[in-house]
Amino acid sequence: MDIRDSIIEAIGNTPLIRLRRASEATGCTILGKAEFMNPGQSVKDRAALYIIRDAEKRGLLRPGGVIVEGTAGNTGIGLALVGNVLGYRTVIVIPDTQTQEKKDMLRLCGAELIEVPAVPYANPNNYVKVSGRLAERLAGEEPNGAIWANQFDNVANRDGHVAFTGPEIWEQTQGRVDGFVCAVGTGGTLAGVGMALKERNSDIVIALADPMGAALYSYYTTGELRATGSSITEGIGQGRITKNLEGAPIDVAYQIQDEEAVPIIFDLLEYEGLCLGGSSGINVAGAIRLARQLGPGHTIVTVLCDYGTRYQSKLFNPDFLRSKNLPIPAWLERKSTINA
Ligand code: PMP
Repeated sequence: MDIRDSIIEAIGNTPLIRLRRASEATGCTILGKAEFMNPGQSVKDRAALYIIRDAEKRGLLRPGGVIVEGTAGNTGIGLALVGNVLGYRTVIVIPDTQTQEKKDMLRLCGAELIEVPAVPYANPNNYVKVSGRLAERLAGEEPNGAIWANQFDNVANRDGHVAFTGPEIWEQTQGRVDGFVCAVGTGGTLAGVGMALKERNSDIVIALADPMGAALYSYYTTGELRATGSSITEGIGQGRITKNLEGAPIDVAYQIQDEEAVPIIFDLLEYEGLCLGGSSGINVAGAIRLARQLGPGHTIVTVLCDYGTRYQSKLFNPDFLRSKNLPIPAWLERKSTINA
């Protein structure tokens, strides 16, 4: 029998999928970890579960308690779904710039959603800081208490990737992995997988794929946090060294423009049946760069972070793409010529 007690047991152990076109183009084996196959359709289910379990172990989270978090959406969806199974309420603070689809999903999961204007981290009204203050207040007001998940600086996030995602990749490739690359939101995935792989083989190259508007490419190449430009991707693009990023074993950094990443998203759907969000495009673009740097014959793993339907109103909307001067694939605008 293969029966899961709840969706919690369906989190993780995601397949590694060969990305055929990227592999053929580079002569390498480029593999995508299918994190969109988690119950909440993103890699962040892992962090949500690990943070909740860690808080339970520390005795911080009581039955009927409230979990508060600032999130671009995916972590909130994971927290809400796992919270529903375990009997916790979720209160989510989200920047109003995130897609309607993610906000709708959060509401239908039962999360209480607070939308705030998107302002930089240095501003006290930044969504992360608002969520921290709210958690502190609710901890005093709620009968069963409240915790702040604090995914950016709570290393339980990274620990989940050290304990699971990294070892899964190692076992799925039987240790035959030469490089791992991904973008950073909190840094949990890159730092956690990087640490787990380096511990097993220190020759494995760990690479950052940074979108425009983030400051980490500059940091890992010059030592200075500096951001330029912007990106339509959501959930990634960090301006500071979070606690999760501290000590991350990063060997190489690439800066990737939307013009490079977005066509990759369309190709993955058109030729490989993979419907993905924008951060996966940055990641696969990074994997192709790393493949070219290492040369043919190498195996490179990246992360397919979340499912594309979450971005239908932006990434898969011709009007939105036009407004950003991004290429529109022919099939997105084509009307059917078949008469039924
Ligand atoms: N892609 C998407 C779509 C995300 O929501 C996130 C998390 N915010 C990431 C990538 C980055 O993952 P991490 O937080 O582990 O750096």
